[in-house]
Amino acid sequence: MSQTLKAVRGTRDLLPPETALWNRIEATARDVFARYNFGEIRTPVFEDTGLFARGVGEETDIVSKEMYTWEDRARAQSEKTQSLTLRPENTAGVVRAYIEHGLGESGLLQKLYYIGPQFRRERPQKGRYRQFSQIGAEVIGPPSAGSESPLRDAEVLEMLATLLDELGITGWTLELNSVGSAADRARYNEALRAALVPVVGQMCGDCQRRAETNPLRVLDCKVAADQPIIETLPVIADSLDEESKKHFAAVTAALDAAGVPYTRNHRLVRGLDYYTRTTFEFTHGGLGAQNALLGGGRYDGLSEMLGGPRAPGIGFAMGEDRLVLTLLAALEQGVVAAKADAFIAPLGEGMNAAALVLARELRHQGLWIELGEGSFRLKKSFEAADKTARQIVILGEDELQSGILTVKNFSTGVQTKVPRGELAVFLSN
Ligand code: AMP
Repeated sequence: MSQTLKAVRGTRDLLPPETALWNRIEATARDVFARYNFGEIRTPVFEDTGLFARGVGEETDIVSKEMYTWEDRARAQSEKTQSLTLRPENTAGVVRAYIEHGLGESGLLQKLYYIGPQFRRERPQKGRYRQFSQIGAEVIGPPSAGSESPLRDAEVLEMLATLLDELGITGWTLELNSVGSAADRARYNEALRAALVPVVGQMCGDCQRRAETNPLRVLDCKVAADQPIIETLPVIADSLDEESKKHFAAVTAALDAAGVPYTRNHRLVRGLDYYTRTTFEFTHGGLGAQNALLGGGRYDGLSEMLGGPRAPGIGFAMGEDRLVLTLLAALEQGVVAAKADAFIAPLGEGMNAAALVLARELRHQGLWIELGEGSFRLKKSFEAADKTARQIVILGEDELQSGILTVKNFSTGVQTKVPRGELAVFLSN
């Protein structure tokens, strides 16, 4: 016997009725983004590997160990072999598109959102998958459009608070930090490197490596024994220059004015290399170990790193899988499948075509109809109808001739004779 094939480790099938919840989340996100004047962007699922190496950073976990990369063979003399990668995140792709299409030339701020799958070869666990979906947005533009303003940061954070509220997600925490300018970060990296010299020998292997390559990453360490040492390290707030401090103070002042609560987390430096100034994460206690609902921050130098014009920006990516997990936990019986308005039961196979005509009529009038099968005995039609619809409509030779149909409502048990012309109105009530 041949072995049955299964979905690849770390990937999942999403099935109804749960997909209804995914659709609701996406519809709410689209609605909120539209009110904040964002437009949708759809970038390819795979890109040139160089985009992520340059845009996300060679030293990051994502690029160094989690990407799905392959050599794409040339199919014609005119084509070259190219290293391609399934996108592990979407910001680099959005900024590439911004540069490629000259979106900054309008002189206006570009406000773009995306919804789609991302791919990372991580160790799968609850809330962490190898294919997962992100809902994200970016605000990017030339400095003359106000893209560097702290008001943009505050507006994005206030929008996220609104989106989570409208999704019905309560109990979230906004953690906020500033990683300063590239110069601030360089200064902080030196301070960290110096502070790590006497203690790094007592830390985990990853930290020892990071202390050399990218000391900032030491702050992401989750190893319990390393935590007391990390607590003694300098904080980035002390390495910020006046401009960065002023920028951060303006972000928090606007959040205070709008009544968006936040806490300062000095260790929040985020996993990607492109961040500058504001960084943030929204977490949720109900998620367990993988507690980040979303993360983001400012990336003022990213466009230039990708060979583009100066285009400061700020954005975020939320884990849609984790939004679903959070909402499912709040629903006591999980997602209950919604029922159709009516099930049409043809009496005998000879009535199948007439039943299709009736279903078509009702569906065109906006009703949600399940179509039975004439070979079913009436008992089987009733059983199937009871599971999938609120009402059953019986269609036999007599009903077809007289134009009077019998409808039974499952919740009241009442049976009614209804003229065909009044059927749609009757069924929708
Ligand atoms: P990041 O791009 O790593 O900042 O991730 C942004 C958000 O995407 C996180 O806060 C998570 O909610 C979600 N996320 C990241 N990686 C995964 C994954 N492997 N599986 C599910 N969700 C993820």
